[in-house]
Amino acid sequence: MKLTVVGCAPAYSTKPDHSSSSYLIEEAGTQILLDLGQGSFAQLWRYTSPAKVAAVVISHMHADHNVDLVPLRHWARYGHKGVGPAVFGPTDLRPRYAEFQMAYSEPSPFTDFFADLAGGALAEGEFAIGDLRIEARHVTHIPDSFAFRVSAAAGSGPGIVYSGDCGAPDDLLPLVKPGDALLCEAGFGIVRDAPGIHLTAGEAGGVAARTGAARLVLTHFHDRAGAAALIGGAAKEYSGAVDLAQPGMTLNIG
Ligand SMILES: [Zn+2]
Ligand SMILES: [Zn+2]
Repeated sequence: MKLTVVGCAPAYSTKPDHSSSSYLIEEAGTQILLDLGQGSFAQLWRYTSPAKVAAVVISHMHADHNVDLVPLRHWARYGHKGVGPAVFGPTDLRPRYAEFQMAYSEPSPFTDFFADLAGGALAEGEFAIGDLRIEARHVTHIPDSFAFRVSAAAGSGPGIVYSGDCGAPDDLLPLVKPGDALLCEAGFGIVRDAPGIHLTAGEAGGVAARTGAARLVLTHFHDRAGAAALIGGAAKEYSGAVDLAQPGMTLNIG
């Protein structure tokens, strides 16, 4: 299984070509995307064609995790004969996009904006997409926010756990199995300045240590966060390998 970081910026970035949350995961013949934040649809073409992506799985309703579903849908409808990845996300995702996009361009504001595309609402539990198994669990952030564990559908090898946006480290403990890679947000940098909402690098390190994760990749941190401070914060809690997500970074798992 292979992870490619398409975009890892938080709500905005000051760096050109630094798009928001989107992670490509490949196993055998199956490719999926976890999240599709702003700018990531265009960045995706560096690594694959959306025609090869079986599904986009959205962690939560904040725009930095899903707003490039708009260009994805336009590409599918107008550039790919209505064929595109299945779209899975929180229950509100499809009606929210219907209201957002359809009122001025279609006869009914209640038309499903993603009508061409398969998919549906996420619930806690496991489901399969091709060669991949996905386990979804709710996490503390905004209502109906998810973290995911993705693993090969065949066998019981290590997986990758993506925190989504998560404000309570304990929420991730049931998802991470020993030997997994943990792709974990550190939106608060090194100092927690509010309850809930996000994690610090130290809290991400704590999750990696308590679960026996094989490695930790910090993501969703601000441009202003210092690399050495982030890695140092995680390393105080976790003795394994700690990396900072960067666009184009790849990781082989298993
Ligand atoms: Zn976010
Ligand atoms: Zn969020």
